[in-house]
Amino acid sequence: MNRIYILIIVLTVSFTGCLKLKSDKENTTITQKENLSDNMNYNDLTPEEKKIIIDKGTEFPFTGKYVDHHENGTYICKRCNAPLYKSADKFESGCGWPSFDDEIPGAVKKIPDKDGIRTEIVCSYCGGHLGHIFLGEGFTEKNKRHCVNSISLNFIPSDSVQYETAIFAGGCFWGIEYLLKNSKGIISTTAGYTGGYKENPTYEEVCAGYTGHAEAVQIIFDSKKVTYEELVKLFFEIHDFTQINRQDPDIGEQYRTEIFYINDEQRKTAENIISILTEKNYKVATKLTEANKFWSAEDYHQDYYANTGKKPYCHIYKKIFD
Ligand SMILES: [Zn+2]
Repeated sequence: MNRIYILIIVLTVSFTGCLKLKSDKENTTITQKENLSDNMNYNDLTPEEKKIIIDKGTEFPFTGKYVDHHENGTYICKRCNAPLYKSADKFESGCGWPSFDDEIPGAVKKIPDKDGIRTEIVCSYCGGHLGHIFLGEGFTEKNKRHCVNSISLNFIPSDSVQYETAIFAGGCFWGIEYLLKNSKGIISTTAGYTGGYKENPTYEEVCAGYTGHAEAVQIIFDSKKVTYEELVKLFFEIHDFTQINRQDPDIGEQYRTEIFYINDEQRKTAENIISILTEKNYKVATKLTEANKFWSAEDYHQDYYANTGKKPYCHIYKKIFD
């Protein structure tokens, strides 16, 4: 009898925790959306930059500083510093704006333009307006033209930064993003969904648990400043990787622990760290999976704790590695 009572109390506490958190997340939808353009992590913009990046304007053709620009390096978002385009994908289109036939994977979001005809491109990380994308013009083999305003970009020469991507899932993405973001060498982070089969998943769909997706964080880092191995170690130190399909009090497959590796080198590094943990007698529940499409979460989930001034409820740093 006592056991049943204890079980009921435990379940009640767990469910109450979940429900409270869920309604907490739902309530923030409205306030966070309203405050998006005031995100304190973004660079200050001049009125001229605001006109293009926030108000979705277009600069005059042949006036931007990157139209005739041919250095090797990376073009990053003026507003949030996320790497968007590589110089290797830039080509001469003669249209008067910088033209690229590809973006850095996951960096650019395509949305229908308000004019009902064109497709707008925005930075996946901050939503800043970049320009438009045109298909089937035959300029290059990829047959795509990202027509980008120079003013939406900054340029980093190739010898100063080495960009790499990492994707981790370890429970609620708010906490993982918050704790990873403060590491050295992090250029940008995005909360999102991956590992499942539903295209364009919403938070509600992922919560309902029938998308196969995990809440995850995509990180772009400078591997000259922080190695992938250091990030994997940090990932294991900020969540409980022994729990299966939960990070208490969050329960469900979307809260599973999983590393989505980008290449074989990352896979080997992650395997090596997991074997070190196993030697330390940890029962590691973390899955290793090849990275697939990463879907950015809704705006109000991005940098949640930094924007709300709250602190993570179920992720804390715990030192494991020397
Ligand atoms: Zn951006």
